[in-house]
Amino acid sequence: MPCEKIMYGSAVEAEKGRGKLEADAKRTGSIGKSWKRLNSYKCRWCSGWHIGRANSLPARKTVPTPAIPSTGQLRRKLKRITQKLDCERKHRAYQLGKLIEADLAAIRTENELAETQRQVAGMFLG
Ligand SMILES: [Zn+2]
Repeated sequence: MPCEKIMYGSAVEAEKGRGKLEADAKRTGSIGKSWKRLNSYKCRWCSGWHIGRANSLPARKTVPTPAIPSTGQLRRKLKRITQKLDCERKHRAYQLGKLIEADLAAIRTENELAETQRQVAGMFLG
């Protein structure tokens, strides 16, 4: 047996219909304040979507509006970013220093090896 209620093809369509019904009910006051309980649901019998009035207030998913940050919050955020960048620059400089030390050590080792080879050659040839 088909349902006598208005059928919607999807949850989205049913929600749109609910919004329209809610707006009409608010404007006309035809159903008092029970528009607050208007609810879209999937029918158990016809598998379509309908709009009805729930016995309790439905939990609406409200999309929170993003708060506009104050100038103080923005300044503090910029300060944190600057501090983080400074910290990263210091770390980079530290790592560069380590790299330079390692290069110098390699050069010293090469020079010592060359000097040793010269001394050995001098002992046998000179
Ligand atoms: Zn139905």
